[in-house]
Amino acid sequence: MKKIFLLLSALMLLGTGLMAQTAEELDKSRDRSKYANDSFKDGETYTVTTPYETVTVAPVKGKKVKNIILMIGDGMGVEQVSCGWVLNGGHLNMDNMQACGYSRTWTYDKLVTDSGAGGTSIACGVKTKYARIGQDAEGNPVKSVLRYAQDKGMKTGLAVTCRINDCTPVDFIAHAVNRKDEPALAAEYVNCGVDWISGGGIEFWRNREDGRDLVKEMVDKGYTFIDDPKDIQGLTKGPVVGLFAPLEMEPALDRGPVLEDCATKAIELLDNKKGFFLMIEGSSIDDWCHRHKVGYSMEELFDFDRTIGKVLKWAEQDGETLVIVTADHATGGLTLIKGSIDERTVNVHFSTKGHNGIIVPVFAYGPHAEDFIGVYENAEIGRRIRNIILKKK
Ligand SMILES: [Zn+2]
Repeated sequence: MKKIFLLLSALMLLGTGLMAQTAEELDKSRDRSKYANDSFKDGETYTVTTPYETVTVAPVKGKKVKNIILMIGDGMGVEQVSCGWVLNGGHLNMDNMQACGYSRTWTYDKLVTDSGAGGTSIACGVKTKYARIGQDAEGNPVKSVLRYAQDKGMKTGLAVTCRINDCTPVDFIAHAVNRKDEPALAAEYVNCGVDWISGGGIEFWRNREDGRDLVKEMVDKGYTFIDDPKDIQGLTKGPVVGLFAPLEMEPALDRGPVLEDCATKAIELLDNKKGFFLMIEGSSIDDWCHRHKVGYSMEELFDFDRTIGKVLKWAEQDGETLVIVTADHATGGLTLIKGSIDERTVNVHFSTKGHNGIIVPVFAYGPHAEDFIGVYENAEIGRRIRNIILKKK
C-alpha cells in the first residue's frame, strides 16, 4: 500500500462562506457513512510519496463502435483532475484520451446540480430538476442509454464504489422524483436485467421493512452473488451481483483495487459478439471533497485513474470500444493554489461544502471519440451515446 503523508501546513481559512450552499444542497445521504463524522487530520497541503505507473496507449484508427465504457468520476472537476496530475508527478492515465470536451452541469431548477440530476442527464440525455432519477423536468420517465444498449442485445454492467442504490448507478435503471427512497431504488435491480452489478449498499437489500431479501431474489433469477472482493477473480460467468459493503465501500487506500478488479472482470464476462455497455463510477472523489479531505479524494481519483488505465489497455487491443471519462459535477470548490510536480505536492483551498457549478471535462478514446469534442450541455453526453448505440449494426 502506498504511503502518504498528510501535512498540516496552514491555518484553515475561515469566513470564506461566499460560495457556501444551503444545507439542502449538501449531499446528506453520505452522512450515513461511518466515515462521515471521523476526524481525519487533513491539512491544506498534501504530498504523494510514491507515484503509480501510468500506461500509454496508441489512438484507435477504426470507426466501428462495438462496446461503450462510460466512466464517471463523481465530483471530478478540472480542479480534481489537475491536482491528481500534479500529485502523480505529471502523469495520469486520462492523458491518453484522444478527444476532450466540456460539459455544462446546471439543472432546470438550480444552477448547481446533484448526482441525481447530473447523472440523469448523462444517462438519459435530458436536462432535469435537482435530485431526479431517470426522469425529465416534467416528471416523465426517460429511457437510459443502458436500456437502449439492452434493446440492441448488448450486455450491460454497472460498477461503483458507493452504494449501488445511490444516484449515479440508479440513474441508469430507475425512475424517481427523488433520490432519497433508497429501499425502492434498490428493489429496481431485481428486474433490471443488468449483467454485472457491483458496489456497496447491501444494507438496502436485506433486512428490509417490506420483508424482501433482494439478494435471494437475484440469486433465484440466476445471478451469482458475491460479498467478498476476493471472489471476483474466480468468477467465470454472469450475471453477477457483488455487494461488498453495508453502505459505501472503505476509502481507496483501505479497500484495495476492488474497482479495477470489478472493471476487469466485468469486461471479461460482458465481452460478446453483440457488444456491451458498462458504466464504471469512481464514486467517492465527491465524498471527500464534501469533507475537504484532499488526500482521501485524490486517492479515490487515483483508484479511478488506475481503473481507466486497465480499461484503456483493453480498449486499445479491442479496437472497437469507445471509452468516455467524465463527471457529473465538481465538488468542494477545490482550488489548486500552488504546489510542485517534482515533489508531488499541492496546496489547495476548498470554498464550499457542497458541489460547485463550473463546467467539467469529457474525455473520449476509441472510435467516435471525436463526437465528444466541444462545449455542450451534460445531456448531450447521453444523447451522443444514444445516437451511437442506435446506429450500431
Ligand atoms: Zn456530492
